[in-house]
Amino acid sequence: MTKQREVIIEELKGVTTHPTADQIYEMVRKRLPKISIGTVYRNLDILSKLNIIQKIEWGGTQKRFDGNIENHYHVRCRVCGKVEDLMSETIATDEVEKIYSGAKGYCELTHKLELVGICPECAEMDQ
Ligand SMILES: [Zn+2]
Ligand SMILES: [Zn+2]
Repeated sequence: MTKQREVIIEELKGVTTHPTADQIYEMVRKRLPKISIGTVYRNLDILSKLNIIQKIEWGGTQKRFDGNIENHYHVRCRVCGKVEDLMSETIATDEVEKIYSGAKGYCELTHKLELVGICPECAEMDQ
């Protein structure tokens, strides 16, 4: 693994803010000033295909990245676009896969759930 890739992984796994590629570039550049944005984009793409990091994509919004590849749910603010993790002890996330395993012949199922709302900061500004 290249040094660049290592730094990208370290930076991403060190935060829970689900940064965009541009934000990751800013973080990585502090440690590797010569890195290009193209290199960061390319590595993020490769790392998410290798399932070392998670790419979060929603139609019409900027891609965000998550260093946490455990199955977990997200809540997104529809005003500022912030994404946070939702941890739940009461919902067994792998139950859904178990229920649908083999459905329509599909295997190795995973699923994503995104909740959308207004974060406390944005809700406050609205008043
Ligand atoms: Zn917000
Ligand atoms: Zn997350």
